[in-house]
Amino acid sequence: MVSIAIDGPSGAGKSTLSRRLAETLGFLYVDTGALYRALGLYALRRGVSPSDPRGVQELLPGVGVSLAHGPGGQRVFVNGEDVTDAIRAHDVSGAASDISALPAVRAYLLDTQRAFARAQSVVMDGRDIGTVVLPDADLKIFLTATPEDRARRRHRELLDKGACIDYETVLRDLKVRDRNDEMRAAAPLRPAPDAVVLDTTGNAFEMSYKLLLGVVKGKLASCSTEYSTE
Ligand code: C5P
Repeated sequence: MVSIAIDGPSGAGKSTLSRRLAETLGFLYVDTGALYRALGLYALRRGVSPSDPRGVQELLPGVGVSLAHGPGGQRVFVNGEDVTDAIRAHDVSGAASDISALPAVRAYLLDTQRAFARAQSVVMDGRDIGTVVLPDADLKIFLTATPEDRARRRHRELLDKGACIDYETVLRDLKVRDRNDEMRAAAPLRPAPDAVVLDTTGNAFEMSYKLLLGVVKGKLASCSTEYSTE
């Protein structure tokens, strides 16, 4: 079993790069942000503020969040309902960021994430995978880029999905989420001491992927597990 942890701030290209890497290696791709998004969505729908520790704690026993992986990629379920598309809305990003600061939420989601890596080889992306979820991961990558570069990517993604939102709003919200992720007491966003830091600023996807694959090949060449990066 091999595990690759990919952490970093929003919009650095984690999910597209991780998905492609997992496909190349034949590993399972686990997008852990979807779990926080699903809980954020659930809180919004129940009229509970995602930053209210008491209210959210009361919700947790009644909610089941799960991921399913198939040929079409990862799907996310809340109490059996497929919320894969709904969790990508802009307001859910803010809710996920708020709810992820609550220690009870992080503890609640920890084993769900670890169970994937116990069962199979994974590429898992998030904010605390290398530091908390999989501290013994075979390889830890911290992907980053300037806020402006990341906001441009996020803005393009949102426009492609038909959202009506301007770049300035996306940049402002992304900086707020960065600050939330970096400053929270529970599992703050930071590179693990043994992480390889990759800055994707200004890179087209293929260039970033080439860099990532270079690091992965170099590191995993020493692993005895059979895999192919071709
Ligand atoms: O990666 P994504 O933007 O979908 O994550 C949504 C939110 O979930 C992030 O803003 C972050 O605050 C939180 N998150 C986290 N820990 C993870 C993954 C995501 O705190 N492992």
